[in-house]
Amino acid sequence: MAIVACPNCAKQISDKHKQCPHCDMNISNLNAEDKLKIALDIKLKKKQQIMNHSFIALIIFLSGFLALYTRSPAPGSIELLITQSAIGIGFLWYVINRVRLLLVKKTK
Ligand SMILES: [Zn+2]
Repeated sequence: MAIVACPNCAKQISDKHKQCPHCDMNISNLNAEDKLKIALDIKLKKKQQIMNHSFIALIIFLSGFLALYTRSPAPGSIELLITQSAIGIGFLWYVINRVRLLLVKKTK
């Protein structure tokens, strides 16, 4: 018995299963080519999702900066706190997404 990744949900399952216990996908009649195609599909979707997330993070980051320099909020004001939070969160989320993308690219 070997542990393999389900081609549909990528969860670890036994190769003795005819059906994935997590997503109910029938895996008994899939050939190697089908499995590879599905796995690539999942990877592509995941990459696309991460790219979208890093794009949103970048927008949050940039709008924080834009608000900080165009509106120049008073020190100690709520507005300053919000713009600084947006910059911090946007930057952090962007970095996290870049790392996730690297990890996805590394896995086969
Ligand atoms: Zn599954």
